[in-house]
Amino acid sequence: MSDNCLFCKIVNREVPSEFLYEDETYVVFRDINPHAPVHLLLVPKKCIRSINDLKDDDHKIVSGLFMLAKEMAKQEGVNNSGYKLLFNVEKGGGQEIFHLHLHLFGGWKR
Ligand code: AMP
Repeated sequence: MSDNCLFCKIVNREVPSEFLYEDETYVVFRDINPHAPVHLLLVPKKCIRSINDLKDDDHKIVSGLFMLAKEMAKQEGVNNSGYKLLFNVEKGGGQEIFHLHLHLFGGWKR
């Protein structure tokens, strides 16, 4: 865990958040500043700064994130209507919290 990492603090319940899902590897919670009717953050508990910092050993964490996204989309009822998945990478890519997370956006009426 990194001392000043907000998502580490959320994972460790030092900062309150309502988890929609938790297991030994991930937590999922709603984005505090949603950019879509459904905006979830899927967060590995392991503190990896960004996609740039993945090690070979981390491949299961990343593939598991996509499997979890599929399940969370279903749980939120957006699997059939459709959704977007996004990783922001570093400041130029819009990343503000330097703890790997996958955004799931959906729920628009189209
Ligand atoms: P990124 O720009 O990809 O690093 O995304 C970080 C996201 O975390 C932003 O969409 C923020 O709105 C969101 N965020 C920041 N603080 C919190 C918090 N305490 N709980 C939930 N989401 C947060």
